[in-house]
Amino acid sequence: MSALLSDIAREKGIRYFLICFTDLFGVQRAKLVPAQAIDTMANGAGFAGFAAWLDLTPADPDVLAIPDPNSLFQLPWQPEVAWMPADLYTMDGQPVAQTPRLVLKRVLQQAQDLGYSVRTGVECEYFLLSPDGEQISDGRDRASKPCYDQQSLMRRFDVISQICNAMLELGWGPYQNDHEDANGQFEMNWMYADALVTADRHAFFKYMVKAIAEKHGYRATFMPKPFAHLTGNGCHTHISVWDSAGTANLFHDPQGELGLSTLAYQFIGGVLHSAEALCAFTNPTVNSYKRLHAPVTASGATWSPNTVSYAGNNRTHAIRIPDPGRFELRLADGAANPYLLPAALIAVGLDGMTQKRDPGRRYDNNNYTHPLPLGTVKLLPTNLLDALRCLSGNTVLSQALGQEFVASYLKLKHQEWHDYSTFISSWELENTLDC
Ligand code: ADP
Ligand code: MG
Ligand code: MG
Ligand code: MG
Ligand code: MG
Repeated sequence: MSALLSDIAREKGIRYFLICFTDLFGVQRAKLVPAQAIDTMANGAGFAGFAAWLDLTPADPDVLAIPDPNSLFQLPWQPEVAWMPADLYTMDGQPVAQTPRLVLKRVLQQAQDLGYSVRTGVECEYFLLSPDGEQISDGRDRASKPCYDQQSLMRRFDVISQICNAMLELGWGPYQNDHEDANGQFEMNWMYADALVTADRHAFFKYMVKAIAEKHGYRATFMPKPFAHLTGNGCHTHISVWDSAGTANLFHDPQGELGLSTLAYQFIGGVLHSAEALCAFTNPTVNSYKRLHAPVTASGATWSPNTVSYAGNNRTHAIRIPDPGRFELRLADGAANPYLLPAALIAVGLDGMTQKRDPGRRYDNNNYTHPLPLGTVKLLPTNLLDALRCLSGNTVLSQALGQEFVASYLKLKHQEWHDYSTFISSWELENTLDC
């Protein structure tokens, strides 16, 4: 493998490799290795696991990040560097169970064992901010309905086109870029692919957008809800299940309701069944829950769901069926870990298919202006702690993702919640000072 990498380096003019793993909180950790030394990394680059968001201690031995040579991204804006996602192994060669990318591979293997392959596409919304992160970068981007705003989009043409050109060069099949529903917010879409390919692209996209934005003097954020009065950053995920050869879309049935097969509805049934626990991965931060259940934004709609329900081509529910042969999970936000998001979604979907779960009825109401009467459907969790407690009680996810991984994830996320709970906010002072 390493001989191959040094060959690739010579052939492509790569002088440095970024060996990168994504930790439990979605942070990308890397070592920059000169091409001359890449052969010495055959057994992985060493990291002190406790220094990242992993459930390890300073006394634990190093973990080794072994890069995946099948997933090499030469940086189009800095071609002397190649980024490679890595999987974590112990010093004695055992996979580290809490590695998000390995958790996804584990679930994809379960799908394959059942005769399925899975394709996903993600819509990674982001804001372009001033370098201090305090305001949107474009002072003139102030329309009350800023979605698809041509003028504001084109004022950021230099950044958007550089990112889109990079995706073209990388062969991702980008097909559209737009100004999104919040001031300062953008979305760039590329073609769906096998779930692991999309996950690596998703991780790389976040790095690329931040890096290119910085070059232009801006700061990009995928934070779920950076501004209370504006629409938040979603990470809608589209999904379809195929046969193992990848030739037939098993979600597609021209006779089925809205062009979806029974299998697709069972998958949706699995998602609805475990939705509250799924939120611990689709909406993994304290801030995530300020996007869900949010008050109406300045544009007139939050575009984010509040209930565990599905709809046709209607954007006010957690699941939307926009076209035959796939559905969209609108729940996920910009903080979702690119590997744990599909892993958890596929896990609950496999459960739905194997248990033949009934998704119940479709709702066609405008769930923002005419919400379903209380008690009709389950509500999404209102904070991270709720979601973590749901995850603790969900055996579908712990079995599919691995108990060791889920225990580590819960431990670190409970610590984060605790950390947040000890913070005394100005809201509390305003509302409690005179009690
Ligand atoms: P919208 O804004 O209407 O929700 P976008 O065009 O922004 O949709 O994003 C749609 C995503 O869904 C893209 O990544 C697209 O490639 C992906 N997609 C389309 N068909 C499928 C499919 N069969 N399986 C998985 N993803 C799909
Ligand atoms: Mg050292
Ligand atoms: Mg979109
Ligand atoms: Mg969008
Ligand atoms: Mg969408």
